[in-house]
Formats: sequence, structure tokens, C-alpha cells
Amino acid sequence: MNLKQWLFLVCLPITQLWASSTEVKIGVLYGNTINEINAIQHKGNPKIFFDSLLFFRIDSTFNLKIVADLDSLTIFNNESKIARCKTVKILEDPESVTQLKHPNFKNEKYYGGQLHISSNSGFIFALNILPLENYLPGVLEAEVGINRPPEYYKVQAIICRTYTLSHLRRHEMEDFNLCDKEHCQAFKGFSKSGTELQKGVQKTEGIVVVDNDFMLITAAFHANCGGQTVNSEDVWNKKLDYLRSIKDTFCLHEKSASWTKEFLDDSWIQKMHKVSKEYKHENDSILFVKDFFFTQATRKKFYDVVPNCMILLKDMRTTLELKSTYFSAENRYGKIILHGRGFGHGVGLCQDGAIRMSKLNYSYKSILHFYFQNVSIVHLDKLDFYKFNE
Ligand SMILES: [Zn+2]
Ligand SMILES: [Zn+2]
Repeated sequence: MNLKQWLFLVCLPITQLWASSTEVKIGVLYGNTINEINAIQHKGNPKIFFDSLLFFRIDSTFNLKIVADLDSLTIFNNESKIARCKTVKILEDPESVTQLKHPNFKNEKYYGGQLHISSNSGFIFALNILPLENYLPGVLEAEVGINRPPEYYKVQAIICRTYTLSHLRRHEMEDFNLCDKEHCQAFKGFSKSGTELQKGVQKTEGIVVVDNDFMLITAAFHANCGGQTVNSEDVWNKKLDYLRSIKDTFCLHEKSASWTKEFLDDSWIQKMHKVSKEYKHENDSILFVKDFFFTQATRKKFYDVVPNCMILLKDMRTTLELKSTYFSAENRYGKIILHGRGFGHGVGLCQDGAIRMSKLNYSYKSILHFYFQNVSIVHLDKLDFYKFNE
């Protein structure tokens, strides 16, 4: 046991230094190109400020139309112009939920917590500021959806909490923590209470996954590994000890476990030249050799069919728009046929496998230890105490 680990264990009995009020600032409606929006009261009675001016309301409900110009906002209430300001702040009361509405939105959007709305070069820019634990249900709903096994929601809550805290600086330049798109983690906004999804977050409150040095892990996950996960360095160049390739039979019977894709010879050749400059024209002839086969009984890093030409499978996946890098290829009847397995980058936790394990009554701890090697599952208060003493 090294000194860090010894110190960590000695410090374990000291409790509850983590503040459950940790807040996150989320850029919502990220990347939109709308220049007006309606903010409508759905629940609660929040205070509203136009810059520092409190909006006095006779009536307890509001429906504000907010129109952005280059650097400020004009506010209308029932079609009457009532203010001009830089920022509209809708502060939270414990119950408040506000709807943001625009004809372009496919789904209705509701937000708890605070909303700060301003103009970003004429486009609506909105921040949702809320406690971490209130943010996570909206992430789970967007990332994994409803009707999943209860134990799986615990797994995913821990992963998303770990991811959030290790990526708080992702949008530092734009003055918020994470956006609401897949670039960070998809976030749906307010998620109604009392669901299994909510319970998964509550029952694991403050729990995260750390590595041997008690650093938050890169909590990678993907839809389906196809039977074997991938070493981190095969996809992202960085070798992480807890992201090792493992065999996974739990996901094998799910829909995403296998796929096929076909290319006509000409289009395959064109695309392969795009994938890598190493793929020279003299290599084209390999396609017309009768016994052309590329097989992956276990996962490989390179497409190594052509002598002296090692093409990264992750580059093929991007350019050829493949579901995964785990495929075999053959040349048949003038076509290249790919027989693939799995969906996603393949690193870390396999969601289909974890869902299956949850149904088979594995605990969230066993599931996390299965997909992430040599990690510890700890409460943030222990982590804060350790950092505090470092
Ligand atoms: Zn982002
Ligand atoms: Zn799997």
C-alpha cells in the first residue's frame, strides 16, 4: 500500500465534508440560432430580475417574450414592451420550473433551478444553474431514457456524476461548465420526481469512481461493445489503467450486438484513400485478390490487410461512418461486406451489458468493477477531505 492509499484509508472515518449544494452551470439550448424565446412559468413562483431590477408582478404567473439583438434583450409581457436589459435572471424558489418555448423545439423544454438568459451576438444564450444532484436526472433521462432497471440507473448516475465533476472546465472560455449536447452529456432539463431514474440518483448521492491516485476517472461508456471492450489508447491515444479491454458476454443478444454494411468496390477504394494517406493506389489491387479477408476474432487496433499499411480502425470508423471498429471484412461478388459487432467507441462501460447485468441482479458496484479495473467507488466527501490535506 502506498502512502496516498494509506492516508486515504486513515481519513475514511472523517465524514460529510462534501457540500451537497455543489452547483453546476449548464449551457442549455447550446448552439441554437434563435433570436427570441418565451419563458413561461410552469411551477413555483420565482423572482425575476432584468439586470438588477426586480420584475414586480401583480399576477403570479408570467409569460415573457424575450427578443435578442446584438448585445441586449427586449422583454415583452402580454405583447407590451416592459424592459430592455443585458440579462434576464429567473431565480429559483424550491419548486420553480420554467418552460422555454420556441416553434423550432421538437420537445417541450422545462428547467428547474435558475435560468440566466442573455444575447450572444443576437442569438439567445441560456444558462441553467442548479445543484449537481438536480442536474443528473435530466442527464440520465436524455442519455439512457426511461424504463431501465433500477440498479442500472444507479450505475449511470455514478458515471454521469463522475463525468460531470471531471469536466467542469470544458466550457470555461464561455463561462459555464458543460453544454447540454452530446459534446458533454445530453441534458433534457427538468425531470419529474418520484421515478426510478430519480431514485437511482438519490440512492447514490455524492458517489463517484476514482482511480488508484484518487483522481476522478474518465467515465467512458458506449451503447454496445459487441462482446469485447477496447483499450483506451486504441481510441484516444492515452493509456488509462482502468480502461482495459475485457470480454463481455452480457450484451451479445441485444439489437446493437451485430450489424453489416456493404460497399461497392469503387466507393470502398475511394473511401480508403480518404481514411489514410498510407493507402496508396498500388494497394487497390488487394481488393481483387480472391482470398481477401480481414477478421477480428478479438479486437484489433489496425486494419492490417495491406502489407506495410497499418490503418487505424478508429479512423476507418469515422470516415466510413461505421457503428464500431469491431468488424471483419470480405470481398464477395464485387462488393466489400463488413460484418460488425457493437455500437459506439467501445471504451469503458457497455450500456447494453450493464443493463443486462442489472436485470440479472448484479449490484451497481459489481457492474462498475466489471467494466472499470482497479477503481474505487467512493463518496465525494472522502475525496474532498483527501484533496484538502494534499
Ligand atoms: Zn459541451
Ligand atoms: Zn458489451
